[in-house]
Amino acid sequence: MKKTSTRLADGRELIYYDLRDDSVRGATDRRPLDRTVTTSEIRRDPLLGDSVAIASHRQGRTYHPPADECPLCPSGGDRLSEIPDSSYDVVVFENRFPSLAGDSGRCEVVCFTSDHNASFASLTEEQAGLVLEAWTDRTSELSHLPSVEQVFCFENRGAEIGVTLQHPHGQIYAYPFTTPRTALMLRSVATHKEMTGGENLFDAVLERELADERVVLEGEHWVAFVPFAAHWPYEVHLYPKRRVPDLLGLDEEARTEFPKIYLELLRRFDRIFGENEPPTPYIAAWHQAPFGALEEFDGVVREDFALHLELFTIRRTSGKLKFLAGSESGMNVFINDVPPERAAERLREVASS
Ligand SMILES: [Zn+2]
Repeated sequence: MKKTSTRLADGRELIYYDLRDDSVRGATDRRPLDRTVTTSEIRRDPLLGDSVAIASHRQGRTYHPPADECPLCPSGGDRLSEIPDSSYDVVVFENRFPSLAGDSGRCEVVCFTSDHNASFASLTEEQAGLVLEAWTDRTSELSHLPSVEQVFCFENRGAEIGVTLQHPHGQIYAYPFTTPRTALMLRSVATHKEMTGGENLFDAVLERELADERVVLEGEHWVAFVPFAAHWPYEVHLYPKRRVPDLLGLDEEARTEFPKIYLELLRRFDRIFGENEPPTPYIAAWHQAPFGALEEFDGVVREDFALHLELFTIRRTSGKLKFLAGSESGMNVFINDVPPERAAERLREVASS
């Protein structure tokens, strides 16, 4: 893997990740861009104790551009995009319309391939492995920024999820605080550790799931299952079998096996609702331990956290979406119409032959 870092015309950082070590990335951004003005503010809700990023500058962002104006395709001739070069393997750059910026963190875009019409599921194992390298490297780099406490790599896929660019890409949010979901998990880990005299909650959950009927896919180093209390109609959690706090902790064996397992999971997701349905909209979310101090979580250390990926779709049946309505949006109580055991069965039925 070769990494080349450069700057766009407005000063934003862009990094090429190339499969070939002899790749040369010398193209410069020829667009007349003004320096970006980003004003993002984190406001804390006093009752819920969570944080909201107020980012008013985002209203002018690119919205469903035609394919020949895609800002994530490589530049070619007079058509200048966010990527100055005429080709790339994987590229990461600072978002032009970030929800988090400056002291409030950082937002990056990860282009998985230069092929506009591809999807993550259609990548080769080599390409998917390169994306994993990029996620890992960005986690490391962003963790060193003074304003960053937690790094979140994710992909929103499909217009139904609100994706405004069709080009296969994901995002990385680097937050200046520990996110509420991670804090909830860490609190559960702390309580379990104290009540059991030191047992790790993630290990206990994994052991229970491995012995149960909701395992969807298992490799030598990874296991994927529909959790006992799945919130979403089709939801899969993917764990490395050896607990590590973040992507940096994965060993070579787990890294090598990851593309095969993850690509198979995504391909199954596209088959859940049958051949005639449009591709399944999904969210794929990496959960990693925060890099900040953990003293508010009694007795918990970073190594107690278990890196994992949560993959779910908001489609519940052919042509119908699961909306976060009154109970979910108003009270955080999810109502799931698809029993997790049935969801797991379906995800095994649609395995690649
Ligand atoms: Zn494109």
